[in-house]
Amino acid sequence: MSRVPVIAGNWKMHGTVAESRRLAADLRAAIAPGDGSREVVVAPPFTALAGVAETLRGSTIELGAQNVHWEAKGAFTGEVSVSMLLEAGCRWVIVGHSERRQLFGETDEGVNLRTRAALAGGLKPIVCVGETLAEREADRTLEVVGRQTRAALLQMKAADIQTLCFAYEPVWAIGTGRTATPDQAEEVHAKVRAVVAELAGAGTAERVRILYGGSVKPDNIDSLMARVNVDGALVGGASLDAASFARIVAFQV
Ligand code: PEP
Repeated sequence: MSRVPVIAGNWKMHGTVAESRRLAADLRAAIAPGDGSREVVVAPPFTALAGVAETLRGSTIELGAQNVHWEAKGAFTGEVSVSMLLEAGCRWVIVGHSERRQLFGETDEGVNLRTRAALAGGLKPIVCVGETLAEREADRTLEVVGRQTRAALLQMKAADIQTLCFAYEPVWAIGTGRTATPDQAEEVHAKVRAVVAELAGAGTAERVRILYGGSVKPDNIDSLMARVNVDGALVGGASLDAASFARIVAFQV
């Protein structure tokens, strides 16, 4: 089964509307029009979504948000709903990024609720999982990532599961310049796929795309993408530079 790779840029809390639109325009110019061999997504801050959607209109680069709430509306100060993101032009949403989990107290249960709401509303979630350095050093990586994967998929149907992506992002590799080796990434990606197979069957597991994230750069993308269970990348820092992100999008295996 061949899976279409996804390269997604997480812009985090970087960029005014004008700066984000400029970066989107630069990306549009730098990234060759899609030939269907890979999908490209950018996730700017909420305030820049509508503007970036306008800049990207007619291109093959799709828009994602960095989070979503599970309720449709109500007294949830600071949260954003699925329909708000769809209206802004989003097709994708990042869920359970380690910065959300570590800095803002998001739980496995909340990740599951956000993921289900996104899927129910027609957004494609990129569900982040990954261990801390202490967990890796304690040899608990597969246990932690297995638990996060299982929890994210609670009460979900196989038909929904096959449309989402996972992103394996070791916390110790995010923004640190330390990247998991292709072997380390492959081992954890295979674990995520095995958990999906156990919960939703082998066919679904073969279709789920599992991205790697954590200091992905132009000089390491090719070796990561060469591994059979690595189906793309979630890119932070290097997605803020059009030339770097374009090179990552143009990975060669
Ligand atoms: C991320 O934020 O998802 C990420 C992987 O960041 P970086 O590429 O900067 O490590």
